[in-house]
Amino acid sequence: MLTSGGFEYSLPMRKAFQEGPGVKGWCFYGSPYNTGDGIEMAILVGAALAKVSKSASRIEPSFPHGENYEKKGLKMGAMSRVSSSPNSCIVDNYGKRYTAEDIITDSTKPYRYQFYKEAVRYDMLNMIYPRVPSWAIFDENRREAGALISTTNSTAGYSFLPWSEDNMDAINRGWILKGDTLEELAAKIKADPENRELITAETLAETIRKFNEYCAAGEDKEFGRNPATMGPIEKPPFYAMKHYPGGPNTKGGIDADAQRRVLDWEGKPIPRLFTAGEISSVFKFTYQAGGNLTECIVCGRVAGRNAAAMEPWS
Ligand SMILES: Cc1cc2nc3c(=O)[nH]c(=O)nc-3n(C[C@H](O)[C@H](O)[C@H](O)COP(=O)(O)OP(=O)(O)OC[C@H]3O[C@@H](n4cnc5c(N)ncnc54)[C@H](O)[C@@H]3O)c2cc1C
Repeated sequence: MLTSGGFEYSLPMRKAFQEGPGVKGWCFYGSPYNTGDGIEMAILVGAALAKVSKSASRIEPSFPHGENYEKKGLKMGAMSRVSSSPNSCIVDNYGKRYTAEDIITDSTKPYRYQFYKEAVRYDMLNMIYPRVPSWAIFDENRREAGALISTTNSTAGYSFLPWSEDNMDAINRGWILKGDTLEELAAKIKADPENRELITAETLAETIRKFNEYCAAGEDKEFGRNPATMGPIEKPPFYAMKHYPGGPNTKGGIDADAQRRVLDWEGKPIPRLFTAGEISSVFKFTYQAGGNLTECIVCGRVAGRNAAAMEPWS
C-alpha cells in the first residue's frame, strides 16, 4: 500500500515535473518528509504515471530554512496571510499588478488552489516567466497588523519555521526586503538575482500610486479586487516578500483505477499493489479545500478493503 504523499521535497522530481524558472522556484508548506519515495518505488515495479506535474497550488512565500534547504536548496514554504490583505498588493517581476489579489485566497471560490496556473504564465515573446517570483508589496501598517504568514498551522505553526508575530525576525534575517522609500525597495528587489533586473523604481511607484487611487475610490478599476480587502500602501517603511507557485501539496503521481490498484503503462493492475492519498490523487489540479482529506479517507477505505480481501501469501 503506497500512501507516502507527494514529491514536494524531491529535487529530481521537481526537475522532471514542475514548470517555471528553476526547480527551486516553487514552495510547499506541508510535510518536509514528502520526498516522493512511493512514486520512485512504484516506478521500479513498472507503475505508470499520471498528471505528475499537477499540484494544489496558488502562490505562497518560502524561505531558506530547514534540512531540505541545507541539503538540496529547496526552500520551506509557508501559508501567506499577506497576499490579499489590506495595505498590500502582488506584483510581478516588472513591478506590475497582474491579478485581483483576493482570488488567490477566496475560500468561497473553487479556483483558489488553481491560481498557480496564472503564476507560471510564460511570456513567449520575451521568453521568461515574469511572475516567478511574484512580490507581495506592503507597508508598515500591514507589518504592524500581525503575522504575514500563518503561525497557527502549517510550517510555522508546527515549529518547522521560526516566525515572530511582529514579523521582525524574518525582516532581520533578510527574508523580507525593506526600504524607507518605494525607490529604495525597488533597488533591493532589482539586486535580487531572481528579479533578473526587470523592475524599475518608476514602474513600482506608478503601480502603488494607481493601487492607492483605487483604494480611495473603493474600486479596483484594473482587476476588480474586492474593495473590502483593499487598503493603501502608504506608510513607510515599505516591504517586499517573494511569493512562488506552490501550496499544500503535489497531486499527480502513480496511476490507479477505481479499486485503487496501481496500474502499469498498459493499464493493467500490478498484482497486490494499492495506493491512496495525494501520491495518486484523482483531483489533478482541480482541488478545492476539503477534497484532499476526503479523497484520503475514501480511497484509503477502498484500497484497504481490497487489499484485506486478497488471499494471504503462502
Ligand atoms: C497546512 C495544510 C493545510 C491543509 N488543509 C487541508 C484542508 O483543509 N482540507 C483538505 O482536504 N486538505 C488539506 N490539506 C491537504 C491534506 O492535508 C493532504 O492532501 C493530505 O494530508 C494528504 O494525505 P497523504 O496521506 O496522501 O499524505 P501526507 O499527509 O503528506 O502523509 C504522507 C506521509 O508519508 C510519510 N512518508 C514519506 N515518505 C516515506 C517513506 N519512505 N517511508 C515512510 N513514510 C514516508 C511522510 O512523512 C508523511 O507523514 C492541507 C495541507 C496542509 C499542508
